[in-house]
Amino acid sequence: MSDDDGKARPPGFGFETRAIHAGARPDPTTGARNTPIFQTTSYVFDDVDHAADLFNLQTFGFIYSRLTNPTVSVLEERIANLEDGRAAVCAASGHAAQFLTFFTLLGPGDEFVASRNLYGGSITQFGLSFKKLGWTCHFVDPTDPENFRRALTPKCKAIFLEILANPGGIVVDVEPVAAIAREAGIPLIVDNTMATPYLCRPFEWGADIVVHSTTKFLSGHGTSVGGAVVESGRFDWAQNDKFPCMTQPEPAYHGLTFYETFGDFGFTTKARAVALRDFGPTLSPANAFYTITGIETLHLRMERHVQNAQAVAEFLEGHPAVAGVSYAGLPSSPYHDLARKYLPRGPGSVFTCRLKGGFEAGVRLVESVELFSHLANIGDTRSLILHPASTTHRQLSPEQQVAAGAGPDVVRLSIGLETADDLLRDLDRGLAATTTGK
Ligand SMILES: *Cc1c(COP(=O)(O)O)cnc(C)c1O
Repeated sequence: MSDDDGKARPPGFGFETRAIHAGARPDPTTGARNTPIFQTTSYVFDDVDHAADLFNLQTFGFIYSRLTNPTVSVLEERIANLEDGRAAVCAASGHAAQFLTFFTLLGPGDEFVASRNLYGGSITQFGLSFKKLGWTCHFVDPTDPENFRRALTPKCKAIFLEILANPGGIVVDVEPVAAIAREAGIPLIVDNTMATPYLCRPFEWGADIVVHSTTKFLSGHGTSVGGAVVESGRFDWAQNDKFPCMTQPEPAYHGLTFYETFGDFGFTTKARAVALRDFGPTLSPANAFYTITGIETLHLRMERHVQNAQAVAEFLEGHPAVAGVSYAGLPSSPYHDLARKYLPRGPGSVFTCRLKGGFEAGVRLVESVELFSHLANIGDTRSLILHPASTTHRQLSPEQQVAAGAGPDVVRLSIGLETADDLLRDLDRGLAATTTGK
């Protein structure tokens, strides 16, 4: 057992064992050792009473694969286990997981507070698309935890943040933010995509709900888009009158009261039984299979991702063509101490650097490297590179780009699992092209 991060933990299997076994067992009918891809839409009922029990949520079983599927269930159980959570529900993407979470929590007119340092797509989802549903997000600078408290209104139903923020290498001081959420009687939701449960388990720091884009490091091989919502099981939905969604009879499910009926797994049950049922962003069994397979090596991959990222970050920091590197693994980072507290095994493998040659140098670098792939993803076995100002952030003004940590001179790297020396050589060659003009 090598959960050696110094935190007290109940006796049980180690992280590596759970990454391989949690939620899965040999198939009882065929003996198949690996989790099969249950490529089926529906499941035969034993009889009419069994069907009625299933539809009433009085027994656990499979009805229709929009709601539950045996392959997806294994993945849900595995992710919940690795996060030390109570239960999980998977979704078709990370964004779908965020939608299921907020649809379950909020009604029209409700509000929440979010860190402004989020994955770009989350800023758009929260700030623009959620607005159309009558949900208002207040964005705050997360580097001062008190900013979350200042932005709270009586209508706020949640606080949302990325503990390790994409892409700027920011580590948020989660513990005081969790205390602010607790005082306000609302859940803290943490997007743990960039860290994965191998590097950080937000529930240990006071989070109540964890969301994932499993597309990234969990599936890990750039094969499968997916998402997950995990609940700790510790949030008391009845402590105030803010959550009728959990404590009042639900008209969209024949008057069932989810907290009373399902207790510590009421939130994910409701996210599945109402939000997933009615909107349908379901994870496919094939993508669940690829993600399960990816998670079985999560511990090995994350260790090497972090090791390679540290080597590349140190190399870039010493390179004459580079103006600065934002990686919390470097002592020069203002987030170095927070990273050592919250991410003792290393602060992930996605970070940015600034080039002395500005916009032109960014363009030349992404076009000159050969081993790095120029694309908009992170968390692949392959090393990836992106120049945000000419791609994902090109519609923003230079001022907006700088505020988003994506100024004209910024390049984002997601360090993969190749031989570290090969990555350094590739970057060195690419950086030479930025100074010689090719
Ligand atoms: C990619 C990503 C998302 C969105 O996930 P999708 O699977 O692309 O929908 C959300 N949060 C973070 C931190 C991400 O990196």
